[in-house]
Amino acid sequence: MPENKSNQCSFFDQVLSPQPCLLCQLYPGQPHICAGCSRDLPWLGHCCPRCALPRILDSPHPCGECLQRPPPWQQVIAACHYDFPLNELISRAKYERQLHFIPLLADLLLARLQQLPALPEALIPVPMSRQKLQQRQVNHALLLARQLSKALAIPVLDEQLHKRRDTVQQKDLNRAARQRNLHGSFSLRGPLPASVAIVDDVMTTGATLAEITGLLAGHGVKQCSGWVVARTPESLFAP
Ligand SMILES: [Zn+2]
Ligand SMILES: [Zn+2]
Repeated sequence: MPENKSNQCSFFDQVLSPQPCLLCQLYPGQPHICAGCSRDLPWLGHCCPRCALPRILDSPHPCGECLQRPPPWQQVIAACHYDFPLNELISRAKYERQLHFIPLLADLLLARLQQLPALPEALIPVPMSRQKLQQRQVNHALLLARQLSKALAIPVLDEQLHKRRDTVQQKDLNRAARQRNLHGSFSLRGPLPASVAIVDDVMTTGATLAEITGLLAGHGVKQCSGWVVARTPESLFAP
């Protein structure tokens, strides 16, 4: 009898209990991570609405840098600082294909997107070159965009924007070299709606977003936002 009862509990535990937290494995995930691990994430607090760089006080106005040299995009939404454990999760999803982290990463961004008064007409994941796609086998930005698309009922357009050539890893370059490295590396096929969000995992200097946004603006896109899970504290325009 006790043995039977134990079997029943195990069955119901499996059916009714949520998966354990992806981070600590100790408490139930809600649905991916537990409340404690969620609280401990490096959430981005007050930040510039234009470039998402952190600031001390809340303000609807862009930071000084964005006022002096307005970036080619209208808005950047970022969920967290690119810090532990998020950097680890993104790295594992990206380089070790631990794709079970993608729904969690999308949910972090969705939590931030709830504050938006209006949504774009389409989501465009940052594309990979054919060579990089063969190497990694999956574009994690596309997977992220698909998760967001399901939750927000916005279509993903992943056929229009292409990365023409493989570029040197952006993370190995300084700011100026990043811009040079990317110049002319994207191309566009087919029309796009007037407002789009470019989806990626991390925004570092914003060089990729600037290159894509510049291209899209020349093809009739009026409102271009960057949606990223994490933001590093680097600015495209800082000296
Ligand atoms: Zn946890
Ligand atoms: Zn700014």
